[in-house]
Amino acid sequence: MNRFWSPVIQQLEPYRPGEQPKHQTYIKLNTNENPWGPSPQALEAISAATSGALRLYPDPSASDLRAGIASSLQMTSDHIFAGNGSDEVLAHAFHAFFSGKEPILFPEITYAFYPTYCKLYSIEYRLAPVGSDFRVKPSDFTGACGGIVIANPNAPTGLAMPLEDIEAILKANPGVVVLVDEAYIDFGGQSAVHLVPDYDNLLVVQTFSKSRSLAGMRVGFAVGQPHLIEGLCRVRDSFNSYPLGRLSLAGALAAWKDSAWFEKTCDQIVADREKLTLNLQTLDFAVLPSSTNFLFASHAHVSAEQLHADLRDHGILVRYFKRERINNWLRVSIGTSEECTTLVKVLRTML
Ligand SMILES: *Cc1c(COP(=O)(O)O)cnc(C)c1O
Repeated sequence: MNRFWSPVIQQLEPYRPGEQPKHQTYIKLNTNENPWGPSPQALEAISAATSGALRLYPDPSASDLRAGIASSLQMTSDHIFAGNGSDEVLAHAFHAFFSGKEPILFPEITYAFYPTYCKLYSIEYRLAPVGSDFRVKPSDFTGACGGIVIANPNAPTGLAMPLEDIEAILKANPGVVVLVDEAYIDFGGQSAVHLVPDYDNLLVVQTFSKSRSLAGMRVGFAVGQPHLIEGLCRVRDSFNSYPLGRLSLAGALAAWKDSAWFEKTCDQIVADREKLTLNLQTLDFAVLPSSTNFLFASHAHVSAEQLHADLRDHGILVRYFKRERINNWLRVSIGTSEECTTLVKVLRTML
């Protein structure tokens, strides 16, 4: 509390991201970063963009990047919006499409940034309960609401929702925007981007942070029909018309085009994920079936809070959420194959 803060700022509960230790001696499996690093072509493009031209403002509409994304999705650029990380794109979408008159709906267990945006923009929300298996049920997304947000695959559970379920939600809610956050889609889910031409209420948001390994660059994008994209542009141009710098634009476009690197690194993460799942199961963990670059796991005998602290003492960071329903679960990012092996070895000595 502070007498200078506005009423909105007083009541905020800011999102708390996973720890980024200054001295990188930890094996970092706590923020779902991609261990394989960006495409070498992206790094080259970033170097090439590092020039005196940085004195000039970047392209406010990110036209080359949008054209690149649009052409591989067989769409036109007016279906794409690019922003400073998908967190910013999501925030603009909440601001642009959720009026605050009717509560919006999202699952009880999902990305913790959604309630934060609601508080920031004074948007009421209701939580759709998830069952003991943590699955999100499309039948909970019927009835009047001011909008819907679904992370697919969901975080921090890693569970994917079938595309038919997304489509059922779109059909049941033609009057409001359905925001599908596909931060992890490249590791196994079925993307809703191809439904965009059929649904004027669908906005799909993706990021370069996870599957393209550019978390440090901050690039995200949305795919939707032009009237929704225009809504996002209106917010952007009332906030910061240059959300992406020259280096980000160059790096993201090159990363997008390097599909060989993208496929190779995603495949490796999926292979290591499946191996780590089996290894954790052998160590008495329950592990949810993951379609992402992380696992959500709970041990039969040792508390997640304890394991989180003990792993930290052994130099391994994983994510622990002290939140109802999930406070006995750990979220473990898939590191390099070697890091996964070390994790299993350390757990074996601990348990
Ligand atoms: C990581 C993540 C994001 C944010 O990604 P950035 O593009 O790095 O801002 C958005 N949604 C979910 C569910 C995420 O896990």
